[in-house]
Amino acid sequence: MSDIVETAEQASYRAEVRAWYDTNATPKKPDHPWATNIHIDPNAAARHFENSKSWLGVLHAAGYSGIAWPAEYGGGGGESWMTRIEREIAGDYQEWTGFPGSTIAMLGPTLMRHGTEEQKKEFIPTLLSGERTFCQLFSEPGAGSDLASLGTKAVLDGSPDDGEFVVNGQKVWNSSAQYTDWGFILVRTDPDAPKHKGITFLLVDMSTPGVEVRPLVQINRSAHFNEVFFNDVRIPAANVVGEINEGWGPARTVLSNESAFIAGTRISTADKLRALATERGVTGDPVIRQELVRYLASERISGWMGEQVQQAVRRGEMPPMDPGLIKLRASNNKRLAGDLAMTIMGAAATASEPGGADAAQTFWAQAESMGRYSISIGGGTDQVLKNNIGERSLGLPREPGYDKNQAWKDIPK
Ligand SMILES: Cc1cc2nc3c(=O)[nH]c(=O)nc-3n(C[C@H](O)[C@H](O)[C@H](O)COP(=O)(O)OP(=O)(O)OC[C@H]3O[C@@H](n4cnc5c(N)ncnc54)[C@H](O)[C@@H]3O)c2cc1C
Repeated sequence: MSDIVETAEQASYRAEVRAWYDTNATPKKPDHPWATNIHIDPNAAARHFENSKSWLGVLHAAGYSGIAWPAEYGGGGGESWMTRIEREIAGDYQEWTGFPGSTIAMLGPTLMRHGTEEQKKEFIPTLLSGERTFCQLFSEPGAGSDLASLGTKAVLDGSPDDGEFVVNGQKVWNSSAQYTDWGFILVRTDPDAPKHKGITFLLVDMSTPGVEVRPLVQINRSAHFNEVFFNDVRIPAANVVGEINEGWGPARTVLSNESAFIAGTRISTADKLRALATERGVTGDPVIRQELVRYLASERISGWMGEQVQQAVRRGEMPPMDPGLIKLRASNNKRLAGDLAMTIMGAAATASEPGGADAAQTFWAQAESMGRYSISIGGGTDQVLKNNIGERSLGLPREPGYDKNQAWKDIPK
């Protein structure tokens, strides 16, 4: 529970949600902290995704997904504090909305802000219920941090009202694209315009002929993300979000909501680090104790900062600080936690056999040690966030660039 003093109405809502979870969900086992959501077996990973999706459906049916979203788009029409309370309580139970839940935070506000009335009515309810799941198809082999340089080509066949875009190109690092039934993609529709101007944002049904998804297997042997190839894929022009060639606006809405979402995600690794130190008998070691306290303090500060950003987002206000700052802290915390686990466990923190006897070792190796740098890249790298914070919050001069006003087709690739 947060430190906010609750009104009688809020306390009563908290009791109602708690009672629902007690009846419908499974409490986490505090003496069993080593469960991970990382699956090496592709079938187990697919089942995990399906479970997250169905759990989102259960929550939606009970009124606990999209609590504060407008009722006409499948939401509950409630207050933002209700979402906060529900999320806090949800953290005490094993069921998880996983990737489908996180996409609501990215695509939902984008459809609300840039979508047509038809798109809002068609897509937002199914996004909230998990009936449709979406992957993000932004990055390309030649476009990551400099996303606006993307080159996946789309040519309009027919009129902007009832024609189709024919899409060719490759995307990469697309989380969960092997499981989602839809995606949102950035394509180059005007190569003669400067790089930020000729991009279009489309919704794509992943079962459309010509879409090929190839999972990428990582160092921990799981396949979190994919390469996605587009060969003459026909996407209805009615699926454009915003205007043709003006896709950079919706793309920025996705990226800033993604950063705010990652920043606001409740991360509680301190208890696990303490459990690890206890299990390995090193809680009396003065250096380990000092590092544990350093980590705990850093995690708590990040949590409080994240809560302030989330509250502002839920009230529809500008965050009181740059959300990128909290994401930077989150990636630093993840590094600190992985480093400390390495100090406690040594090389064992990087080698494990899933389902092996040592559950703690599997957890740290699979989820935390080998994966500790992913958050410093996904959703914007630390270096680029620092550039952005410097420019946006500190008023430093913009990073020098040579290609902002040049036609995209003339930029050296
Ligand atoms: C866990 C995870 C999930 C992801 N999920 C998705 C997804 O679902 N969909 C999707 O489209 N993409 C996804 N990505 C991709 C992610 O958005 C890119 O990896 C990221 O934008 C960086 O791009 P890049 O990998 O091409 O690296 P590059 O942009 O090539 O960067 C390489 C290095 O150069 C540095 N650098 C680049 N530009 C600058 C600069 N101007 N100033 C200083 N340093 C700079 C970077 O910080 C980095 O260290 C995911 C990535 C991760 C790790």
